Amino acid sequence: MSLKTDKSIKKRLACIAVALICVFTSMAIPPASAEKTVEELNNEIAKIEQDIQENQEKLDEVEDDIRTNEDKLNDLNNQIDKINDQIDLLDESIDILNGDINSIQNNIEVTANDIDEINLRREEILLQIAETESLMAETEEMLLARIRENYMSGGTGSTLELLLSSEDMATFFARKELLTRVSEEDTRLITGLSEDINELNSLNAELEAKKTELEEKEESLNTQMSTLTEKQDDLESSKQIQQGKKNDVTDKQNEVKYILEDLDKDSDAYKAAIKRKEKEREALEAQIEAAIKQEGSIAGDEPDEEYNNDGKMMWPVPGSTRLTATYPSYSDGSPHWGIDIVRTDVTTKGSPFRAAQGGEVILALNDGNWNYGFGNYCIIDHGDGKHTLYAHAQTLYVSKGDIVQKGEEIGRIGDTGNTTGPHLHFEVRIKNSNGDVSRVNPLNYVSKP
Ligand SMILES: [Zn+2]
Repeated sequence: MSLKTDKSIKKRLACIAVALICVFTSMAIPPASAEKTVEELNNEIAKIEQDIQENQEKLDEVEDDIRTNEDKLNDLNNQIDKINDQIDLLDESIDILNGDINSIQNNIEVTANDIDEINLRREEILLQIAETESLMAETEEMLLARIRENYMSGGTGSTLELLLSSEDMATFFARKELLTRVSEEDTRLITGLSEDINELNSLNAELEAKKTELEEKEESLNTQMSTLTEKQDDLESSKQIQQGKKNDVTDKQNEVKYILEDLDKDSDAYKAAIKRKEKEREALEAQIEAAIKQEGSIAGDEPDEEYNNDGKMMWPVPGSTRLTATYPSYSDGSPHWGIDIVRTDVTTKGSPFRAAQGGEVILALNDGNWNYGFGNYCIIDHGDGKHTLYAHAQTLYVSKGDIVQKGEEIGRIGDTGNTTGPHLHFEVRIKNSNGDVSRVNPLNYVSKP
């Protein structure tokens, strides 16, 4: 029997369906039709068998997929971490840059204010210069008037000539003889005004220089500003590229997450199916143990005389045979507590099998039901705690309580219960003197002829 494969919920439903159809057919349809229905259902069960076998394979595939996708997800998470690091770095750079830009902006504003202030002061000074100049012009006019007056009242002709021929005030004042005619107060007034004008002019020049300096500074700040703004644009576009990459990776990550969710659901379904299978296995073992514990002989018991137990079991399948699975596990390592025998000379399905030793049938189920995966099966007690089990029969010729002889045909090989094909599943079970039942290697009791 192939306990390694698991069973879907479909199978359970099918079993229930079998039971229900059996009930209904036995009520409404004659026994001949009921048998036919059982045959059909057996075929159905055989079909479900294949599903079960594929179930574990699917689960393995799904688990492989899960591992692959989890690797993918880890990879994508790492990519996102790296991109986030890059974005953080860009954000830091942008923050620093924004600080620089703000301080330059402030600097430009301060400089522009300074220039405005200087312009205001220069305007004031130019105004002052103009005022002083007009004051000077008035004073000069006043002086000239006074000189003319002085001349009228008895000055020399040469003085008038000199005055009239003078092109400007500087020439005029250079003339020593005329200076002596000007009062000391007038001289101080003119000199004072002239000094004022000089002072204002030099202040104006200073401010002019300062303004030029500030304008140069402003220009340099504007250059810096545009460099930083370009850099800021570069950083922003880098950040946008990283953000785009991050979005792409996040999309992929979500896809993989959805795939993983689906796979987890599949995996859960397969695991649940396997769990049901394991429960079935436990139920089967409980059924067999109960039969042997309650009905079976104990090691040390003398076999019943009518068993004709000759102390040596025979190979349970006549003809040419081959083993497709042995005790205690399948080739893939999953447990298998018996040996699986097929015919190599004739078709296995429908060929007979026989009692390995004389004894009493203590369990026989020939109802065509699933029977926890063993299908039609029977157990024979040979005395002295030794028991043999025959499973997946097409049909059994024996019933509980029957006495069988060694080599007696007890049924035909089939594929009822959980199998991947027709074979006889044969087990040997020993009940020790304490009443404990164990499954032992049948090849220690029988050997292929
Ligand atoms: Zn088997």
